[in-house]
Amino acid sequence: MDKKTFYITTTIPYVNADPHIGFALELVQSDAIARYHRLVGQEVFFSTGTDEHGQKIWEASQKEGEDVQDYVDHFAKQFSNLKGTLNLSNDNFIRTTDASHIKAAEEMWKLCEVKGDIYKKKYKGLYCVGCEKFITEKDVIDGKCPLHPTKELEVVEEENYFFRLTKYKDELIKYLSLPGSVIPEWRQKEALDFVENGMEDFSISRSKERFSWGIPIPGDESQVMYVWFDALVNYISTLGWPENKEKFEKFWENGYTVQNAGKDMVKFQSVMWQGMLMSAGIQNTKQIVYHGFITGEGGVKMSKSIGNVISPEEIVKEYGTDALRYFLLREISSFEDSPFTMERFKEAYNSGLANGIGNLTSRILTLSEKYLEKCPEISEQSDMIEYFKLLEQFDIKQATDYIWGKIGELDQFIQTTEPFKVVKVDEAKGKELITKMVLELYFIARLLNPIMPETSEKIKSLVRENKKPSAPLFLRKE
Ligand SMILES: [Zn+2]
Repeated sequence: MDKKTFYITTTIPYVNADPHIGFALELVQSDAIARYHRLVGQEVFFSTGTDEHGQKIWEASQKEGEDVQDYVDHFAKQFSNLKGTLNLSNDNFIRTTDASHIKAAEEMWKLCEVKGDIYKKKYKGLYCVGCEKFITEKDVIDGKCPLHPTKELEVVEEENYFFRLTKYKDELIKYLSLPGSVIPEWRQKEALDFVENGMEDFSISRSKERFSWGIPIPGDESQVMYVWFDALVNYISTLGWPENKEKFEKFWENGYTVQNAGKDMVKFQSVMWQGMLMSAGIQNTKQIVYHGFITGEGGVKMSKSIGNVISPEEIVKEYGTDALRYFLLREISSFEDSPFTMERFKEAYNSGLANGIGNLTSRILTLSEKYLEKCPEISEQSDMIEYFKLLEQFDIKQATDYIWGKIGELDQFIQTTEPFKVVKVDEAKGKELITKMVLELYFIARLLNPIMPETSEKIKSLVRENKKPSAPLFLRKE
């Protein structure tokens, strides 16, 4: 990384359901990357938040018979509570109903308008409320949206404002061809393919007659902003743009910018949003990283209607925050779909945590407390290049595997050298072996910092105090 400041953001979820495990993955991944960049001495801005406008939310609130503002407040709270549940280090939580965000979305509109990139057009099409967008005929399956087969498509005819995305075709191709602009590579191909073959101007407003829960169009009260045009601006409004020039310059213009998103977001994040930035004359996002989906057993989609949804809150209540972080970051692929089942979770918990790092910590510190007078001299400067390289590539799973490789090696070292026996016959030699183990354990704790921050701190302070844990770090579960 060649920049002093680092910026990372998650997408902002719609607030029409409680937080699910898939979004917890995105949060925890982004948090690990943010913590890594702090660890190497960069100043970091990590943002998340909630997307609170649009027809879907309006209708959901009406269905509940609730005032829409109360409705979004309730869910925004659920999402911001994840900061504690998942031990997130985010610097801001942006809500699209914040007054400052609304001002920013209006400013973005004006900038694109001045550029001549916004025009009015009569439009008739099939509209999916689930997607909050028009569905092209070729994507319709059995008269329904493929993503929302239980929802009826609405035939909608209205005059909307459109964004001249096609004007930026060449510029987008150039941007998307930059190495690393989209990660992983196959998503980069997908983005390029979309721009080259399927990209059209997109509608960025909705008639106020249908619903009014959105930001009014500057200069035209009859329309509200399309929720995507509004929501995408959060990536810069979170920095106080356009008002707070200093912060915006520091982290967006002069920083290294990364957005983390789900694999279904490519068109929105890497194309639409980048086109808007080009129009407004704002620098593009440096890198956008796409993760896969968490599925249920056998790769089935997790959904409320199927009833296989796993709640991050419940897992944390029973197993603790770091156990969930461990599973999400190690057992779930960083880029492709992976299943999350309680069976897999328990197995990974027992083998990687209870019998893994937990047991190792107890064994080593029991010996050191007994045989060493004090904590040996520790270093904060050991070589982590290989590990850092994996995190630079956002391959968090491999980075976590690397740590557990070190844990395995240390386990092996104890088994072959048997310091607990050696120390009884040759104290000096035994102490030397124990010291080596303690230092290696400390190194592992340092590696754990971005992945399991609490466990990392716990082990580090136990090592410094030369004390064995008073209780197992991770209790074995049956
Ligand atoms: Zn849909």
